[in-house]
Amino acid sequence: MSTQARVAILGFGLTGRIAALMLAERYQISVFEQAKEGAEASAGSVAAAMLAPLAESVICDEALAQQGLESMALWPQLLAQLDTPVFFQQQGSLIVAHGQDRGDLVSFQQRLKPLKDHHAEAVSGERIAQLEPDLGGVFHQGLYLPCEGQLDNQAFYQSSATTLSNRGVKVHYGVHCDEAQKARLSQAYDWVVDCRGLGAKASCNGLRGVRGEVARIYAPEVTLTRPVRLMHPRYPIYIAPKPEHQFVIGATEIESQDNGEITVRSTLELLSAAYSVHRGFAEARVLSLLAGLRPAFKDNHPKIEQQGNVISINGLYRHGYLLAPLIVKQALSKELL
Ligand SMILES: Cc1cc2nc3c(=O)[nH]c(=O)nc-3n(C[C@H](O)[C@H](O)[C@H](O)COP(=O)(O)OP(=O)(O)OC[C@H]3O[C@@H](n4cnc5c(N)ncnc54)[C@H](O)[C@@H]3O)c2cc1C
Repeated sequence: MSTQARVAILGFGLTGRIAALMLAERYQISVFEQAKEGAEASAGSVAAAMLAPLAESVICDEALAQQGLESMALWPQLLAQLDTPVFFQQQGSLIVAHGQDRGDLVSFQQRLKPLKDHHAEAVSGERIAQLEPDLGGVFHQGLYLPCEGQLDNQAFYQSSATTLSNRGVKVHYGVHCDEAQKARLSQAYDWVVDCRGLGAKASCNGLRGVRGEVARIYAPEVTLTRPVRLMHPRYPIYIAPKPEHQFVIGATEIESQDNGEITVRSTLELLSAAYSVHRGFAEARVLSLLAGLRPAFKDNHPKIEQQGNVISINGLYRHGYLLAPLIVKQALSKELL
C-alpha cells in the first residue's frame, strides 16, 4: 500500500497538467477530465502559447507583467521533466506595422510598461530584415522585444499526457465534475486541486469566458524564427511560428460566452492580415480553425483560493501560458510543495 497522500486534480487543461507535473513525484495523483480522451476542449489546446510579458504589459498592470517574466523562467525546468521534447524558444518577438498604420505602433510603444531590465528596442527596416529576412523590404519600422518567447502547446499537451501516464498518474476522461462531485472527491481524497477553468463557473463568482479564435496553418514558403505581431487599427494579429513551418495566426478577442466554431469573418480577418505580412501565406494549407473561451475574472487577474482541502486556480485569461507555471506553483506551495 502506498503511504503517499492522494490528490485529485479536476480538469486536464493547461493548469491541471502543470499541477500534475509539479505534484507527480510526491503524491498519488488522479485527474478527472470531462472531455473524452483525444477530444481536447480546453483553452490551453487552442492557444498560441506565446510568452509575451512585455507586449502584454500594454493591457495588464505592471505587477502582472513582472510576474509573467518570473513565470516564463520556470518553463525550461518544467519541460525538462518531460519524456519527449517540446519546442520552446526565447528569441524575442517582433512588432511591426505597415507604413499607414505607424500611429498604432507608436501608441503601442507608448503603452508598454517598464519591466525590470527588459525593454523594447525600436528597429529600422534594416534591423527587421536582419532579424527576419523574410520581412525585409516589407516593414520599415518596428519594435523588438528580446525577452519574449513561446512554446508548442500541442506538443506540450501530448508530451505531458505521456509523461504523466509513465509516472503513474491516472487520468479519468469523460468525467464531468460538478459541485456535488467536487464535494464527494474532497471527502475521498486528501487534497483536491480545481483546475476546471471555465467549467468552474458555478463556484467562481464573476468568472466569464472571453472568446478567442486562431488558425493553424502549414506554410512551407514562409520562414519566421520568432512571433511577429502586426499592429493594425482593425485587425491586430500575431503570427507564432511553430516547428516545421506551422504557424498559429491569432487571435480574436470577443466578450462572448459563445464557444462555437470560428466565424467566416474572423477567418477572413486573421488570414488576410497574415497575408499582408507575408505573401507566402497565400499558398499555405489550413490545418485547423479553432475557437476557445479564456477563463477570466472581472479584473482579468488570476485567482488562487482555498476552502478546506480544495485549492482552486482560475482566471488566467489570455495569460495562461505566460503565468501558469508561477501561479500554479504559488497555489501549491503553501500546502503541497
Ligand atoms: C485563442 C486563445 C489564444 C491564447 N493564446 C495564449 C497565448 O498566446 N499565451 C498565453 O499565455 N495564453 C494564451 N491563451 C490563454 C490560455 O490558453 C488560458 O489562460 C489557459 O488555457 C487557462 O488554463 P486553465 O487550465 O484554467 O483552463 P483550460 O486550459 O481551459 O483547461 C480546463 C480543463 O478543465 C476541463 N473541465 C472543464 N469543466 C470540467 C468539469 N466540470 N469536470 C471536469 N473537467 C472539466 C476542460 O475540459 C479543460 O480540459 C489563449 C487562449 C485562447 C482561447
